[in-house]
Amino acid sequence: MTRELISIVIPVLNEAGNLQRLIARLTPVLDGLSGGNWELVFVDDGSSDDTLARLRHLNTVDPRVRAISFSRNFGKEIALAAGLRYASGDAVVIMDADLQHPPEILTQFVARWREGYQVVYGQRVDRNTDSPLRRLVSVVYYKIFNALVKTDIPEGAGDFRLLDRKAVDAMNRIKEAARFNKGLFSWIGFKSVGVPYTVAAREGSGGSRWNVRRLVHFALDGLTSFSTLPLRISTLLGLAVSLVAFFYVLIFVVKTMIFGVDVPGFPTIVVSVLLLAGVQLIVLGIIGEYLGRVYDEVKARPLYLVAEEIGLEASDKREPIQIGGFGASKGRL
Ligand code: UDP
Ligand code: MG
Repeated sequence: MTRELISIVIPVLNEAGNLQRLIARLTPVLDGLSGGNWELVFVDDGSSDDTLARLRHLNTVDPRVRAISFSRNFGKEIALAAGLRYASGDAVVIMDADLQHPPEILTQFVARWREGYQVVYGQRVDRNTDSPLRRLVSVVYYKIFNALVKTDIPEGAGDFRLLDRKAVDAMNRIKEAARFNKGLFSWIGFKSVGVPYTVAAREGSGGSRWNVRRLVHFALDGLTSFSTLPLRISTLLGLAVSLVAFFYVLIFVVKTMIFGVDVPGFPTIVVSVLLLAGVQLIVLGIIGEYLGRVYDEVKARPLYLVAEEIGLEASDKREPIQIGGFGASKGRL
């Protein structure tokens, strides 16, 4: 019996120390699941340590270990997009390289997939490995996100998941440059189920590869690519301020007619000018956030540039897809 091919997509940024450990833990699990019919698709996201050299070596040891290497760091979201395009499995699992996603859970992922679920997502039952502040911010953010956006992200769901070929093809058809995978995974739909898992501590040095600036950018990308509600709120805010001003005019006219001209009122002017200027700048800022992203999308630059392919072959279907009509450019160096 020929078993289905299972691909594992792993984005890596300076994870040289973790590769061996990860492969050692994945191999027995995958052998048990697929009778050896599996591939690992590493996406080297512009590492500056010897991650790339190790991947080349690991590929000569076991050709099922495959990789592509970006010309520079493009970020984890883009690395996932590339990995999904290069993976050829009937089922594709996405996981981190730092062993925070326990490989042993894949047995359950694949079991659910064989039951007919097209998306099986890992659901973290605690976030103890994150700092309390990051946990709080994350909880608040996803509450806001789910309130604003029609696409609900299930609680505790992240990138650690299995996608059926159909779901992978759906992800590959998404053209946008601002990729908020967590939202996109929910947006594509398909029959989904969660599998709870406990997040392990990060293996390897350096801590999380994310910093505050990146997280803020990521959070804004998520909101702006899934909701235009902030723009509508701006309109409503404008209306509300105008309404208040209108009633103030009425009160002012009546007051003048009854009590005559009253010269003082300097604080009122200063306060209203400052308040209005503030509101206007905030609204402009919100519009700017969207406009900047529209600009990025319209430029339609390639999502990523591949500098090297290790054990993986270029194929047209793997070209980063471009928005039609803006002059498609080639995505390969
Ligand atoms: N990663 C990446 N590019 C980046 C940042 C991270 O490919 O710009 C990879 C990283 O090597 C790891 C995974 O994405 O395999 C998750 O990163 P990390 O563990 O730093 O994130 P956290 O666990 O804090 O969410
Ligand atoms: Mg991690």
